[in-house]
Amino acid sequence: MDFENLSGFMKDEREKLVERLFSQGYIRTQKVKEAMLKVPREEFMPLENHSHAYLDRPFPIGKGQTISAPHMVAIIAEKLELEEGMNILEIGTGWGYNAAVVGEIVGKKGHVFTIERITSLAEKARENLEKTGYSNVVTVIEGDGTTGYPDKAPYHRIYATASAPKIPEPLKKQLKIGGKLIIPMGSDYFQELVSILRISDDKYQTQNLGGVIFVPMIGQHGWPEED
Ligand code: SAM
Repeated sequence: MDFENLSGFMKDEREKLVERLFSQGYIRTQKVKEAMLKVPREEFMPLENHSHAYLDRPFPIGKGQTISAPHMVAIIAEKLELEEGMNILEIGTGWGYNAAVVGEIVGKKGHVFTIERITSLAEKARENLEKTGYSNVVTVIEGDGTTGYPDKAPYHRIYATASAPKIPEPLKKQLKIGGKLIIPMGSDYFQELVSILRISDDKYQTQNLGGVIFVPMIGQHGWPEED
């Protein structure tokens, strides 16, 4: 196999997708554009789908879970209004793609802590992040993300890539004052992406960002596990 041609092809496809997401209005800022140009999505997907890595759709990553569609990663990254140096919490690592994009933006002065409940996915994400050079900015934690990660709280930003029936209270409490939480919330077949700004100790402002479809967030403050 001609690896040089293959990586050139992937880079071209990545550039075309990022340009499309920009013209469609999903990518709005230079920092999100540069991060999505830099992170190789194929490295966060099973080999059999590498050639489809730059189609704007989710793909299976095993255990009934998916890598998010690029436009969704772009929407969340833009709505988070990320800055270099921020301390971030992600719920739902999957194979680690979204965390790498966010890690690319917050850089070494910041950090992304990401929680995954399925052991094999957490292990694969660590491997992928190591291989692509993001293991120094992204830490994968195995566990129930609905309780957050108090050890490294408070966070400038928290976001979830799995949907909850209601906002998990621990996540709100682990936000900095002025910090923002973005989370899909609703029923198991349709949700709204919700943005919650922590204004003061006990005051939050909620904004609805539109309809989305995500896999369920299963845990103590999320959906119950099915038998
Ligand atoms: N962020 C991923 C990416 O970059 O493509 C997408 C992840 S996938 C859409 C959602 C993930 O959330 C799944 O891997 C699932 O196992 C995980 N998940 C669901 N409930 C969770 C919980 N309570 N804590 C941590 N992870 C959870």
